[in-house]
Amino acid sequence: MSNKLPFAQVIAPRPVRSFFTYSVPPSLDAEVSPGKRVLIPFGSRKLIGLVVSRIKNSDVKTKPILQVIDPAPVVGLHLLELALWTAQYYFAPPGDVAPLILPRDDAVIENLVQLTGEIPVNTRSKTARLVFDALTAKGGSRKLSLLSADLGFTPVKMKKILAGDLIRGFTRQGESVRLKKKRATDKPENINGKKPVRLRIKLTSQQKKAVTAITPDIEKGRFRVHLIHGVTGSGKTEIYARLAARTVAIGKSALILAPEIALGEMIARKFEESLENVPVTVFHSGLKPAERYRRWTQIMEGEAKVVVGARSALFAPMKNLGLIIVDEEHDPTYKQEESPRYHGRDAAVKRGSLEKVPVALGSATPSLESYSNAKEGKYRLIELTSRIDDRPMPQVGIVEPDGGGDIGPKLRDAIQACLKSKEQALLFLNRRGAARFVQCSRCGHVFICRNCSLSLILHAYSRSLKCHTCGYHERAPDVCCECGSESLFKGGSGTQKIEQEITELFPKARVARMDRDTTTKRGSSATILSAVESRSIDILIGTQMITKGHDFPGINVVGVVSADELLYLPDFRSAERTFQQITQAAGRAGRGEREGIVIVQTLSGDHHSVTSAKNHDYRRFYENEIDLRRAAGYPPFSRLARIGIEASTVERGELFLEKIEPAIKITAQSAPGITILGPVEAVVFKVRNRYRWRMLFKAVGVKALFKGVRSFIDKVDMLPGPVKNRVKVVVDVDPADVM
Ligand SMILES: [Zn+2]
Ligand SMILES: [Zn+2]
Ligand SMILES: [Zn+2]
Repeated sequence: MSNKLPFAQVIAPRPVRSFFTYSVPPSLDAEVSPGKRVLIPFGSRKLIGLVVSRIKNSDVKTKPILQVIDPAPVVGLHLLELALWTAQYYFAPPGDVAPLILPRDDAVIENLVQLTGEIPVNTRSKTARLVFDALTAKGGSRKLSLLSADLGFTPVKMKKILAGDLIRGFTRQGESVRLKKKRATDKPENINGKKPVRLRIKLTSQQKKAVTAITPDIEKGRFRVHLIHGVTGSGKTEIYARLAARTVAIGKSALILAPEIALGEMIARKFEESLENVPVTVFHSGLKPAERYRRWTQIMEGEAKVVVGARSALFAPMKNLGLIIVDEEHDPTYKQEESPRYHGRDAAVKRGSLEKVPVALGSATPSLESYSNAKEGKYRLIELTSRIDDRPMPQVGIVEPDGGGDIGPKLRDAIQACLKSKEQALLFLNRRGAARFVQCSRCGHVFICRNCSLSLILHAYSRSLKCHTCGYHERAPDVCCECGSESLFKGGSGTQKIEQEITELFPKARVARMDRDTTTKRGSSATILSAVESRSIDILIGTQMITKGHDFPGINVVGVVSADELLYLPDFRSAERTFQQITQAAGRAGRGEREGIVIVQTLSGDHHSVTSAKNHDYRRFYENEIDLRRAAGYPPFSRLARIGIEASTVERGELFLEKIEPAIKITAQSAPGITILGPVEAVVFKVRNRYRWRMLFKAVGVKALFKGVRSFIDKVDMLPGPVKNRVKVVVDVDPADVM
């Protein structure tokens, strides 16, 4: 009798709402365990899934697991736990977290080579011997592409070797052959690929202090969160590089997250510049599936020691993890906007606590949540108050727009002087396009999206009107579609309009624009960034993409074209975002020899977020803003969950709202410490033909919040079917905004 449980719960990288249950055939009983991949029948095909747990009973009819792929778990139990925590904490179905820990690999499923027996003693083939030995060394199972790379064969040659039956001991994945070889005992860690790490750059005393503060936690394998608050240009990347080098030197691996892929790639380059002999692997969701799978396998096998990536890299199957770094921890892109709606930084802290490794959060403009955690002693605060080489912080000038063009006289003069001295300028505006809206001057008609309650954005180069939310587009109009008037007013600004204005003002300057419209092609942002680096561009115009963490020594002038865009959004984080964006944009100026100049155009020059950014005074910003948050009971003084209600028609939505009224009342009364705001119409009421309402659940503690949300969702689940027909309820815990 087997003492193991007869069923297994499996997750598969498919958008499904639950675990799958499979039966474990007696022949596989000893091998099926959590963290291993298994081949499962799925409809008419076979899929690779990941075993989550063994269970005693199944309510549903089950099919048997076909094969166990891995001799040992490939997804560590901590990572599995992290994924399940993510599903639970963010109210996501387990099927939604599977793609985070298990890449889709149907494209490569056939190409796994496995050892199935002893090689015949009398074999004459040297090639066969080589393949056999290589496979044995890898524990008996290896991706075809990796095995070819190990041996220096082309995949075509490898396939010939296998197809020609030269090696009788092997078979292709998919045939039901049992694995006979067990994984050999792990070799001792190959430290740094044998070569010592060479450090090329000397640290400042503040940088050294930071490295010294975190290193003991890496060495002792101790969970602690360090908040590195360093002004722009204080050399945080160099600190990360040293910490990663130390981690690798003691045989562990380091994981570094950046808010955007382009930034991750820049960090990887800087690491390679400052550390010799530490290979860096870039890992993110933008890779082609086969390439992503190859790197995933390298990470899983412990061949990749330093992994850099965007949000989703947090779930990389790191072997022997020793350190997690989250760069630009304040950045809103760490929050995923679709299910699972996890926050990359918060999940990183969770992973650190599960794996008992230190987590370093870095930023020039820490989130209020992180900074208050540091002030309360939950995190350890490390401050870097000066730039490297004692470079001065840039001078920030606040000017009111003068009503003419988008580039006021002060900004124009600064750019002029900058071009004269052969330096570069950067202009930041967080809106794309040539005009925010097009309106008929005679009848007042505004061109809006047919799917969303949003005005269409004029795009000059494609001569089209586009919706930036749903992607709908139409030809730019010559006349009003309502009254036929030719007098159309183009209102509001965008990066394309700035580009046109700049080209007219400075016809000889070399100008580039970087926003989502110019960077859709793979590698296009890298091309623009390296053109700025090599100084073949004089003026770079762009959205927040150009302000994040980049280090361009040639940039002397930074213009924030309008700081008002964000400030008046109806959201409790609008002041924080404004401060962050001005500071980050300003931080790109004066990173070379000369003192930088920053011009901020705004109508709100006396707002505390603007004046604090002007004075490079994070602490003053924090003290002011934290008082406002405390008074209003917003994070970090409360926890929030935003409940979105989306309906296919206004009528359905309103009926649903009527029916959930009792559920709201009961929840508000029965869950202590919870405040429920709304439902109200969302700031943008209609998106992609769905009508949207918002509720906000607010509580001091996370337990009370969860109790309230759970109880509300349970009551909604019990509503009769017709009421819920074509209505969707979306829970977003710790939302990026409340709009
Ligand atoms: Zn656009
Ligand atoms: Zn009209
Ligand atoms: Zn739209």
